[in-house]
Amino acid sequence: MKILFALTIAVLGILLLNNPSANAQTSTEKIRVIVIGAHPDDCDNEAGGTAALFASKGYAVKFVAVTNGDAGHQVMKGKELAERRFAETQEAGRRLGVTYDVLDNHDGLLLPTLEVRLQIIRKIREWNADIVIAPRPNDYHPDHRYTGVLVQDAAYMVAVPNIAPDVPALRKNPVFLYASDNFQRPNPFRPDIALDISTTFIQKMKAFDAHVSQFYEWMPWIGHYDKDIPAGPEERFKWLLKTYDEKINAATRASLVKWYGKEKAAKIKYAEAFEICEYGSQPNEKEIRRLFPILVK
Ligand SMILES: [Zn+2]
Repeated sequence: MKILFALTIAVLGILLLNNPSANAQTSTEKIRVIVIGAHPDDCDNEAGGTAALFASKGYAVKFVAVTNGDAGHQVMKGKELAERRFAETQEAGRRLGVTYDVLDNHDGLLLPTLEVRLQIIRKIREWNADIVIAPRPNDYHPDHRYTGVLVQDAAYMVAVPNIAPDVPALRKNPVFLYASDNFQRPNPFRPDIALDISTTFIQKMKAFDAHVSQFYEWMPWIGHYDKDIPAGPEERFKWLLKTYDEKINAATRASLVKWYGKEKAAKIKYAEAFEICEYGSQPNEKEIRRLFPILVK
């Protein structure tokens, strides 16, 4: 009798595992996140800590660079540079536990065209995203600004079946979030959601470290601090940790208090914050907590 019972349980288990509707049920319950950046290192900056947190809990996260990065270097350029930067994205993605796509648009020449808008609509649909993270359209770099515009232009259109009909439209409009920045005009960033990334901050820094051409070569050169970069990989990683050890500002700290409570918020060392874009679905507090299971009081 006991054997028969065990056998029945085993058979039931196998049936359940092989039942496609059971699998579909599980996957629809999992929040899916897509982060969109202009260059093949921007997503890491926008949401690297949040992405690593989601990934560590088994959620699917995709990064998409809208340009191939073929202009971001003082010595290299073109195809050779794009290939090097693609390899860097794959290593950064591996370190964060996310997949990293790079669209083949030229760096430094991005425009908010219909063609690129359709590329972004398809990416968001194919990923069946619940959360879309992108820059605000008021950033210093034109590629960042236009990435912000392009993603805003994709919000709502991702649910319109007659647009890009080759990829099925989403039946829901995802939540669109802006990544944080310090630009004040025409309006400063508003941290609607703030997440404790203290446990994944080092992982985020390791993702930065994977973009050798950027964090240790191009950005120091264009910023006139290339003399500060130590030679060895361990020494330069220490320099990176020190340089990007960003203090939490007052507005983000206040948002952390809202989401984590005063006591816990006071102890948080590293955070990432997001502003809710008006063009996607508008989540209330309960919905935000459902979308961010990584937000634990
Ligand atoms: Zn960039």
